[in-house]
Parts: sequence; C-alpha cells; structure tokens
Amino acid sequence: MEDAVSRVMDSRLGDLLARWRESFDPEGMLRPLENLSPHGDHLLLIAIEDQGCRYLHYGQAFVEHFGVDLTGQVIDTLAPEILAPERRGMLEFDYAFVQSRQAPLWRSYTANFATDAKGASVIETWQRLVLPAGGNLLAVGAYPVEQSQPDGEAESLLRLVVERVPVVLDRDGRICDLALSLRDYSDTQRHAAEMEVLANHDALTGTANLRHFHRLTGLELSHARRMNRSLALLALDLDHFKRINDQHGHAAGDLALKTFAATCRRALRDPDILGRCGGEEFAIALPSTGLDGALVLAERLRAAVEELRVPLPGGEVLDFTVSIGVAVANPGAEGTPDVSALMAHADRALYASKKAGRNRVSIAGE
Ligand code: GH3
Ligand code: MG
Ligand code: MG
Repeated sequence: MEDAVSRVMDSRLGDLLARWRESFDPEGMLRPLENLSPHGDHLLLIAIEDQGCRYLHYGQAFVEHFGVDLTGQVIDTLAPEILAPERRGMLEFDYAFVQSRQAPLWRSYTANFATDAKGASVIETWQRLVLPAGGNLLAVGAYPVEQSQPDGEAESLLRLVVERVPVVLDRDGRICDLALSLRDYSDTQRHAAEMEVLANHDALTGTANLRHFHRLTGLELSHARRMNRSLALLALDLDHFKRINDQHGHAAGDLALKTFAATCRRALRDPDILGRCGGEEFAIALPSTGLDGALVLAERLRAAVEELRVPLPGGEVLDFTVSIGVAVANPGAEGTPDVSALMAHADRALYASKKAGRNRVSIAGE
C-alpha cells in the first residue's frame, strides 16, 4: 500500500483490503464471510441483479446503527426515509463502477446518518471499500472513523480527495484512478434525487402519493411480519369537503388540504407514513402500533382537526372535520392481509364513520 493511503485509510479497512487481496483472484469467487472475517459485522454482501442491487448480507453493525435490517432488500425499492435518494445514487454509482472495473473503490463520506437521543442530527464520517467478489457479487466494508488531524501535506490532500471523489485502487492498494469527475457526480445525483421526490410525492401537500405510500407500507408490513410486530393503518376522509370548495372556492379547499396534512405530520412519529390517496382522502401507516395505540392517535388527530381554524385571505375563517377508519395487521393472525386488503378494511371502517354521522373514528370489523 502506498504510504499516504495507509496513513489515511482506516486501519480496519486496510486489514479488509489485505484479506481481500490474499483470497480473491479475478477468475475465482470470493467467499466473503469466510475470507473477510472478522469484518462480517461491518460487511455488506451485494448481488447485482436485473431489478437492481440486492443486499444478501447486511452486517450487524449496520442493523444496530441504522435500526433496520435490509437483508434481502433491493436498493432501488428502498423508501427515501430508509435510504436518502442522494445516498442511494452514490451507492448505485459505486456498485456499478466496481462491477464494470473489477477494482476496489475507496471513499470517505460525511453525512447526517442518525439522530441522537435528543433528536439532534449526528454528523459522522465513514470510510467505505467496495470490492469485487466474483460473478455478480460485491463485498462492501464500511467503518465510522474519527477525523484526526492529518500529519502531512500528502495526507491532507488525500483526505480532501477521498471525501469528494471515489478513488480506484489497484490490487496492491495504490491509487490508480479517480472514479469520475466531481461535477458529473454531484449534478446527476442531485437531479436524480429531485426527480425521485417529485415522482413519489403529491405536489400540493408534500405527502407520499398513493403508489409510493403502497410501496413504503408494503416494506413496513413485511418488516413487521418478520419482527412479529403489529402495523396499524388509518384511512382518513375530510367531511363535506365539496361544501368548502363550493362556499369558499377551490383555493380555500387547497389551503384546507395543506393545513390538514401539516396537522397530521405534527402528530406523527418519524417512522409513520402519511400518504394522499387522492382528492381529500389520506392514509397513515403506523409501524409497531397495535389497536390501542392507533385509536389514541386517530382520536387525537380527529380532535386536532376539529379545532383547526384556517384564516382565509378574505378574512373568513375555515373549519372542517375528518372521519377516520382504523385497521390493524397483528402478528401471527391467520391470513395476514397485504397492503391492499388492509386499506380495504380501513376504508370500510371509514365508511362506517361517515354513516354514523362523520367526525368520528371507527374500527374495522366492529
Ligand atoms: P364526505 O363527507 O361524504 O366525504 O363528503 P365530501 O364532500 O368530502 O365528499 P365528495 O367525495 O363528494 O367530494 C370530495 C370533494 O373534494 C370533491 C372535490 O372537488 C374535492 N377535491 C378533491 N381534490 C381536491 C383538491 O386537490 N383541491 C380542492 N380544493 N378540492 C379537491
Ligand atoms: Mg372522499
Ligand atoms: Mg370527503
């Protein structure tokens, strides 16, 4: 390894690179969990498939750090809440690059990876090595690193470079190339991230659109099954909304919808998913929530909406109410419903709320 590389690269990644070099020949296959032990907890094993990159192994350190086990998941279908679009773009670029070049790629990146106990964001620097592992397999090792003061000019320059551009190493751990120009990367990735947000979210309220809501809730539902947890779903429909448009105009209706979405968002936790199903109909998925918790939240939302007073530009003040239906998928229940079935249950409960006079919460099956 080049001197500057060995001084800037985290020593655990240095060890990973050495083990990879000893056990991998370009024609063969690496047995990553065997050949690269003891890095298993900090290792991702990735298969490049037609639908995208799939995690075959998701190291325990990542499970603990990010609070989610992505084993078996396809990166392209992960929710932006689980993997931010710009970081996903970076991963996909790195993986595609290593797959085509069959050379190790090393980068260091600083990002807001987590929130601490008080809810403040935690900025961390991680170093990552992406290694070809034969066939369609890649092995990725990543460690959070301390940012120590660099001791020389070569080191500080190298630190600067690996924070901005992925660096291609040869088999001996010497820098042989940069993976791309900084500008290409940041422009295309920013663009892709923006496009993704536009495609997945409703322009008026900023909530997930129906398709995206389905996808996120599907991921949460399968996760809930694996972890033996409940997931609750609320269907919400604003009452007599047509009257608001008729009496105050469409712009007032739009303002009511925005205010409603903001009220929901304030009442929800981070992992909860808010979606607009169309018109004045919304849905909320509540991971790790059973019937009791869902009812508390639904009632709190109903009451908060009832109390809303929305001042209109003309000086009038708007108020309105919401009807809610609640359905719950419990672990181990027979014939556990999929997202569509769960939404149909919640819709029937919503219909019961409408029939019983609106501005109320009903439970599916009661
Ligand atoms: P109910 O209590 O039975 O739900 O009565 P409702 O009037 O809310 O139900 P209905 O389905 O008859 O009418 C929904 C109305 O919502 C009709 C439509 O004009 C309005 N709407 C749907 N999307 C939007 C929107 O994006 N902006 C505005 N301003 N109005 C919308
Ligand atoms: Mg409706
Ligand atoms: Mg309505």
